[in-house]
Amino acid sequence: MADQLIRATAVDGGIRAVGVITTRLTEEARVRHRLSYVATAALGRTMAAGLLMASSMKRIGSRVNVRVKGDGPLGGILVDAGLDGTVRGYVDCPYVELPPNTKGKLDVGGAVGSGYLYVVRDIGYGYPYSSTVELVSGEIGDDVAHYLVSSEQTPSALVLGVLVGAGGVAASGGLLIQVLPKAARDDALVLTLESRVAALAGFTPLLQAGKTLSEILSDLLGDMGLTIFPESQMLRFHCGCSFDRMLGALKILGEAELQDMIIKDDGAEATCDFCGQVYQASSNHLAQLIADLQTDASASS
Ligand SMILES: [Zn+2]
Repeated sequence: MADQLIRATAVDGGIRAVGVITTRLTEEARVRHRLSYVATAALGRTMAAGLLMASSMKRIGSRVNVRVKGDGPLGGILVDAGLDGTVRGYVDCPYVELPPNTKGKLDVGGAVGSGYLYVVRDIGYGYPYSSTVELVSGEIGDDVAHYLVSSEQTPSALVLGVLVGAGGVAASGGLLIQVLPKAARDDALVLTLESRVAALAGFTPLLQAGKTLSEILSDLLGDMGLTIFPESQMLRFHCGCSFDRMLGALKILGEAELQDMIIKDDGAEATCDFCGQVYQASSNHLAQLIADLQTDASASS
């Protein structure tokens, strides 16, 4: 099934539900960054969480940055997700592999370790809203749910899953159910939702069983006045980097550094952290940047 996001409401608008399938974009991230199994699960879960969080933003161009910084062998995870359905991200140490945890699952919590979750919401006005919480387990789902409850004061039930094997990513996605302020005082409702989501044996088994997002939401919220919005949104891995942007970044290094690159390396190579794209600048490109810098200097003097 294609990567997609669907939205729904229930309990007369008191509940907001969003589901995402991210199998293909997680596979693209795995291939681009040559991720290990556990790194695929960690980044895949964080990308799904980023897309779920970005979906609640209103203004076109809004984005969410999710940074997980733990003391485990994976290092940090950084994800940039947009309301437009694009996402990109990377982990610091993509090759780390760990034995399965006590439940026989990929040990994302062990790979991430203890630390912090940083979330930056940017609605495009130039004043991003940022907040930090301590990691609960490093398993990502628990950590993001804790962030939504404690930092954004929105009772939230979240399930994230990535199934990856020798053939690549077989299934990936997640589900976010939030109780909005008008219903948030209904403690029984919050508990019911939490127990229903907790009763799911993960998210990827549902996809593997051939369930659609609509069917999964119907199973969970069908008796609560569920309304599923008819239009689904396409999701994709996308990075806005380009050769010109890479040249712009090189130019900032200054004339002496660029001259040094021409002499020592006969050019420069830069790799985009977010998508792994490698860009090669020749000595001619670098010489042009130096000429531009000299023109800029004489124009401003
Ligand atoms: Zn890139």
